[in-house]
Amino acid sequence: MPYRAPLADHAFVMRHVAGFEAVSATPRFAEATAETVQAILTEAGRLSEDVLAPLQRVGDRHPARLDGETVHTPPGFAEAWREIADGGWLGLAAAPASGGLGLPMTVAASVNEMMAGACLAFQIGPLLAQGQIEALEHHADDRLRALALPRLISGAWSATMNLTEPQAGSDVGALTTRAEPMPDGSFRITGQKIYISWGDNDFTENVSHLVLARLPDAPKGARGISLFLVPKRDPDSGAANGVRVLGLEEKLGLHGSPTCTLAYEGATGWMVGEANGGLRAMFTMMNNARLGVGVQGIGIAEAALQQALAHAAERVQGTTPPGREASIIGHADVRRMLAVMRAEVFAARAIALQTAVATDMAAATGAAEWAARAGLLTPIAKAFGTDTGTQVSGLAMQVQGGAAYVEGTGAAQFLRDVLVTTIYEGTNGIQAMDLVGRKLADGGQAAFAALDALEAAAAAPGVATGLAGDLAAASRRLRATTEEMLATDVVARGGGAAAYLRGWARVLGGAAHLAAARAEGGAGPRSLLAEVYRRRLLPEHAPLLSEAAAGEEDIAGLDAAALCADDATAGNGGLAA
Ligand SMILES: Cc1cc2nc3c(=O)[nH]c(=O)nc-3n(C[C@H](O)[C@H](O)[C@H](O)COP(=O)(O)OP(=O)(O)OC[C@H]3O[C@@H](n4cnc5c(N)ncnc54)[C@H](O)[C@@H]3O)c2cc1C
Repeated sequence: MPYRAPLADHAFVMRHVAGFEAVSATPRFAEATAETVQAILTEAGRLSEDVLAPLQRVGDRHPARLDGETVHTPPGFAEAWREIADGGWLGLAAAPASGGLGLPMTVAASVNEMMAGACLAFQIGPLLAQGQIEALEHHADDRLRALALPRLISGAWSATMNLTEPQAGSDVGALTTRAEPMPDGSFRITGQKIYISWGDNDFTENVSHLVLARLPDAPKGARGISLFLVPKRDPDSGAANGVRVLGLEEKLGLHGSPTCTLAYEGATGWMVGEANGGLRAMFTMMNNARLGVGVQGIGIAEAALQQALAHAAERVQGTTPPGREASIIGHADVRRMLAVMRAEVFAARAIALQTAVATDMAAATGAAEWAARAGLLTPIAKAFGTDTGTQVSGLAMQVQGGAAYVEGTGAAQFLRDVLVTTIYEGTNGIQAMDLVGRKLADGGQAAFAALDALEAAAAAPGVATGLAGDLAAASRRLRATTEEMLATDVVARGGGAAAYLRGWARVLGGAAHLAAARAEGGAGPRSLLAEVYRRRLLPEHAPLLSEAAAGEEDIAGLDAAALCADDATAGNGGLAA
């Protein structure tokens, strides 16, 4: 079944759940009226359906490939890039002063979700460009901004982010790429980066690499990292600039996206931001990218759900109860899976767009409370969005049975493609550590403010009183767990961090479904879905939060030897003992 952009659901979430009206009401985003946003989303939906969705299978069947040192992208990617760039989509959220449209992040998040749902391997390219534009707007000097921003926004240049090295993955502070200062103010960059998405292509005139590297006198660790813009070609002469593609990864999925090993061999670069302040500058890009990756997961979940629904509506097996569909949707277990998938996609989308609204409100008002809320929600949006992508894609396969396991249907591709979203931009484990570490470092202020809002929503008069009551209880439990978390150290919190993050998502999802049911007056499909969430998904918060509060006591003794079954049971005898 061809991908259909979920326009109505986005409009509903923005209006009734995420509170987008507040963004439109700010002077900064006054032009983002409901009508304008609707028109933009409609056009993004058309592009997703007509231009990007046809590339989904092409990218999988005709992977990016390396010929000598030249990367060849799948057929159709170059034309799609031109159409996206010419339509102004790369500069959607960029400042008008840089040639962008200056639209809110919330609109960009919706657009990105639809484009990712249509073709994830392609959409990574535009997402990287958006992130780099934002990082340069905030941190680059006038000269670099004037050089790079118009070219990135027009799509003449594509963009990459270069953190990872063989010994430096989650531990970015371990990177060793060197940057030597030159008399003319530039730097010579030398080192090797791995797993670089869209590390090269065969259709843009240049590739703008943002590279983390160390100055000769830099302090050790994350405090000694600086950020550099290193173009593939000299912007004036077009000559090669000492960046070579050493290899292209063969991957489980995302075959259309060229994932490169790059060698920097004395390439000329220019510093972005301050010496040794690179990680802070890169974080601008990473926060945007983390939300962007969260919505990638949701986009794939939506696409997988649509395909599963279409299959289930056609497939007949056995006899279904009287009055139900004759197709397998008439079987309660299949209906359960589809309902859970829809409820989860809605919850994840609501959390992501709430995160985007908080980001926009922080940008528009400068209020620290909004920035703290965006910071708190970003790891939840990333991890829950991508976990939802994985779980819904898995359920979509179950709904389709054997047809999903053979490659011809494309069902398996959703799962293969989406898995990496739980890994890149910081693994979901790192997101959980961020939540219990940096995001609780304010003494829980942002968390308690969010809990106040959840409890107020639950207590507000309205329909769906069952869900409201359960949400109130779940919020109180989350508050108690947060207090327990704050009473322990970060090492102990690590054992419960993933469960704590998911516990948050469960409660935030409950509030989103409550808002939806209320907007509908308590009767209709959204209210039915809210009841599914109340009965089947919200209750998961209780075991999750118990696990969160338990910390790491139970696993502290399980070192590598103890985890190895043979070592752990040595001396306990064999079958004959
Ligand atoms: C297809 C693909 C595209 C990518 N694109 C890019 C890109 O464009 N640019 C780029 O720079 N990188 C990119 N990456 C790299 C990606 O960001 C890293 O793979 C990721 O950050 C994890 O690092 P790692 O693979 O070294 O895993 P590791 O860091 O070795 O992690 C392994 C496990 O240990 C856990 N762990 C590690 N440290 C901690 C800790 N302190 N606390 C708790 N748990 C911990 C992790 O959560 C994980 O479960 C890409 C990767 C892939 C596969």
